[in-house]
Amino acid sequence: MTVDTAIDRVFNFSAGPAVLPVPVLEEAQRDLLSLPGCGASILEISHRSKQFIDILDTTEQRLRDLIGIPPNYRVVFLQGGSRLQFSMVPMNLLRGSDKPADYVICGSWGNHALKQAKLEGDTRVAWDGKETNYDRLPVLGDLGLDATSAYVHVTSNETIQGIQFAEDPPECDATFVCDASSDFMHRPIDVSRYGLIYACAQKNAGPAGVTIVIIREDLLDRGQDTLPGYVNYKSHVDAKSLYNTPPTFGVYIVGLVAKWLSEDVGGLAKMHQRNRDKAKLLYDLLDASPGFYRSHAQPGCRSLMNVTFRLPSEELESAFISEAATHQLTDLKGHRSVGGIRASIYNAMPVQGVQALREFMIDFRDRHAS
Ligand SMILES: *Cc1c(COP(=O)(O)O)cnc(C)c1O
Repeated sequence: MTVDTAIDRVFNFSAGPAVLPVPVLEEAQRDLLSLPGCGASILEISHRSKQFIDILDTTEQRLRDLIGIPPNYRVVFLQGGSRLQFSMVPMNLLRGSDKPADYVICGSWGNHALKQAKLEGDTRVAWDGKETNYDRLPVLGDLGLDATSAYVHVTSNETIQGIQFAEDPPECDATFVCDASSDFMHRPIDVSRYGLIYACAQKNAGPAGVTIVIIREDLLDRGQDTLPGYVNYKSHVDAKSLYNTPPTFGVYIVGLVAKWLSEDVGGLAKMHQRNRDKAKLLYDLLDASPGFYRSHAQPGCRSLMNVTFRLPSEELESAFISEAATHQLTDLKGHRSVGGIRASIYNAMPVQGVQALREFMIDFRDRHAS
């Protein structure tokens, strides 16, 4: 069965947990009773078994190959979601530092991250897009960011507002920490531009329950020995993600997603092209429908992952969402802070789903535009 013939599946535009590639679900289903050569399920085996250690090692290696993670970066698989990273980052990198941390606030998640950092040390707001309701992004290179901060926190894709940096941070003396929760592995990145990248899996990389952290080795020295064990990155790096029982099923699925990206899709450059093509189908239509559809994000910072837009009235927005569901197009309601519609079109959303949404949007517009 391929994506095309998975006819009893809806096109699920949920922001997260979100759509996963059908071949990943099929492989997980096929091997759920017994992993090949194992005789037991991934859900039943010890995290210290040879079989699981193989899965852990393979998953890390697939991520390293796919993303191009340099040897001086370590990869760990944690729990607690990105919310725990909002605290773990400043606990490790800010506590005890004589420098403040800079936060670039582009939307809801950046604000949540800053709030947690304030509990751990001095912070500065390097930029805040609040004035225009987070519909645009700064040029990071223009913010004068440098090594006077402990680190600079950025959110590569603001999932709620639907705005996204199209490029990596500039080469400079600042240590960038990136919340890549909702666009991890959607395009090739230069990992060396970052000190630390974190991503909960349930948007673009796997199921809820596992969070991937990529950290440059020298930053591990900043974590103080007085930190609680679980929140010290060193604990996880030293124990190779087996400090405590890791989210074994989540790690396994992330490994299958990475395999899908490299073998089925053909790598992150190809994935990026697919994502650009998909997003263009929707943004072109929004731009071609003035007076009816209104894109929240300004051109130049529009997310390839979460397309946010308004209709002329809240009544029409409600009608749009419920009618769409009858066409197997689900989970299109925008977050309450932005309102309107949010179509999350992550890596695993097939182009057919985006085309179906586009056709529905044209039809809906033509029936309701005055
Ligand atoms: C979803 C999301 C989070 C929160 O993730 P949890 O796993 O629920 O803690 C943080 N940042 C971004 C950008 C997100 O999209």
